[in-house]
Amino acid sequence: MYHLAKLTTMRRIHEVQTRLTDFESPSEKKVIDGSVSSSVLPKREPAHLWRKVIDDGEVWGVFEVDDTVLFVRIIDGRIHAHGREVLCKYCRGALEIRGNQVFCRGACGVFQGNFSYDLNDYLRWDGAKSITLRKVIAEEEGLSLEKRDLEAIQYAPEWSPLYEFEEFESDPK
Ligand SMILES: [Zn+2]
Repeated sequence: MYHLAKLTTMRRIHEVQTRLTDFESPSEKKVIDGSVSSSVLPKREPAHLWRKVIDDGEVWGVFEVDDTVLFVRIIDGRIHAHGREVLCKYCRGALEIRGNQVFCRGACGVFQGNFSYDLNDYLRWDGAKSITLRKVIAEEEGLSLEKRDLEAIQYAPEWSPLYEFEEFESDPK
């Protein structure tokens, strides 16, 4: 795992360096050295295709709801996404995991979506579609790529131009 993490970090550094080179034109440097205070210039966040969300010491699952696949944290049996409890989309009641399905346990009791404690289901359920992003997520979260991904990788270059242009397919936080 250490080597994998280090590799990921190196790739991130490479990505950041590439982007800085891309965007810092000579004229901009002149501005920084000149009269305009650097604090006026907009800050550039280093772009990441994926920021690790799964903490190994916590309970996480995969929730497929409304054609969206999310990593969700389970606290006392309740589903949390982006740091907040996920509630019924109809009556705002609390949700209940029953096997591989999630139901409202509030007033309406309606089925909400599919659930799995197997984090690999994130990729299986197409939480990310592009091979580049799937690879990054698999590395960051320690998931297994699907057979179809491994077949695609044979044709994909190690450094994809998608790293430069790909947009987030999922809300990073
Ligand atoms: Zn409800």
